[in-house]
Amino acid sequence: MISSYRDYLINDFEISPEVLDAVDAAEAALSDRFTEADDITSVCQLKVLKALQDNHVNATHFDWSTGYGYDDPGRDAVERVYASVFHTEAALVRPNIVNGTHAIASMLFGILKPGEELIYATGSPYDTLQNVIGTTGDSSKFRGTLLDYGVIYNEVPLTEELDVDLEALRSAITDKTKVVAMQRSTGYDWRPAISLESMRKVTELAHSINPDIIVCADNCYGEFVDTYEPTDFGVDVIAGSLIKNPGGGIALSGGYICGREDLIERIAYRLTCPGIGAECGLTYGQNRHVLQGLFLAPKVVNAALKGASLCGAIYDNLGFEVMPPAGIKRSDIIQAIRFADPDKMVAFCQAVQAASPVDSYVTPMPWDMPGYEDQVVMAAGAFVQGSSIELSADAPLREPYIAYFQGGLTYEHSKFGVIKSLDKLYKAGLVTL
Ligand SMILES: *Cc1c(COP(=O)(O)O)cnc(C)c1O
Repeated sequence: MISSYRDYLINDFEISPEVLDAVDAAEAALSDRFTEADDITSVCQLKVLKALQDNHVNATHFDWSTGYGYDDPGRDAVERVYASVFHTEAALVRPNIVNGTHAIASMLFGILKPGEELIYATGSPYDTLQNVIGTTGDSSKFRGTLLDYGVIYNEVPLTEELDVDLEALRSAITDKTKVVAMQRSTGYDWRPAISLESMRKVTELAHSINPDIIVCADNCYGEFVDTYEPTDFGVDVIAGSLIKNPGGGIALSGGYICGREDLIERIAYRLTCPGIGAECGLTYGQNRHVLQGLFLAPKVVNAALKGASLCGAIYDNLGFEVMPPAGIKRSDIIQAIRFADPDKMVAFCQAVQAASPVDSYVTPMPWDMPGYEDQVVMAAGAFVQGSSIELSADAPLREPYIAYFQGGLTYEHSKFGVIKSLDKLYKAGLVTL
């Protein structure tokens, strides 16, 4: 018989009591943050419910067609629901958008023409996006990057305070500038997520200099972290992955792009081809998963957010540098910990793997992941491969050895991941309590 949560962890999971004491203390100190997160979730849950109701979602939307995929009312319903949730004119939500990178790349390729300029206003983008732009790899080879197609690229580094540099952006914008892009989440970087307030300022600045500039955002990991989304503050188009926040752990694959109707049409022409756009494309029975995942997403994001806060608080208490700093308002679900030591970093990721419901008995090792310059260690014992809204941790093998912790479909599980990581480091003598 299991007498209590604490006894169960100590007896059956062999967790050290000192670790549980440290986690209990950190959790107790976070109660205000957790209440704040619950308030946001209450609003987001209603926002999603209203979108499902307003768009008359019904059981026929869970069917699918074959071949060209004409007459797939479910596909249209999914896209109307996403447009309602993000308060945009239109949306593209497809299972054949293979990941977040593909969604963001489709957005950029759909909008930019040769000779037009893309400016990233949040410093260098995520590793895989650098391959899309063409700033990595052998520039003498044609790889179909934005640069290969004659797009001009520039980026504005963040300020010393790790926020957007509005003055530098103002002077960077030229008459060739067509797109100002922002990456909301941290990526494999050392900075807090960009706040919605900063995203609003960038958007207003870009539009005030030239109303024809299109402001784009990579919204990965940011969905439902707040009651608002970037599109509520004038961002013209956003993109993200369905195996992160908005898929709620249920969507099997896919990506979304939400924004102005004329832009979504151009992007659809890029995703399929001109003339066809969003009119074709099978959904392979995924509509119900996508909608049910979206319905659960606010609560799942709440779990991930609390788990990230707990993780940050614990490692901050132990004297590690953490990002975002413990206790600040979050704009994504990522918690970065600077281990400054490859052994600690790899042990942390391996412990998160050992805390997983799937593949808990395997030990992740650094590997050459497609699209990344450095080797990466990935802990992802997930029901859906690579799903980082499920409990996961990943870390590129480069100094200063930062691990990124995210996800957890339930808070209880995310918390267990934190407990397990601390226990492993404690037992290996890598931290003292
Ligand atoms: C996850 C992520 C992406 C997309 O990554 P995929 O693995 O292609 O889904 C893009 N930008 C940021 C900031 C991300 O966190």
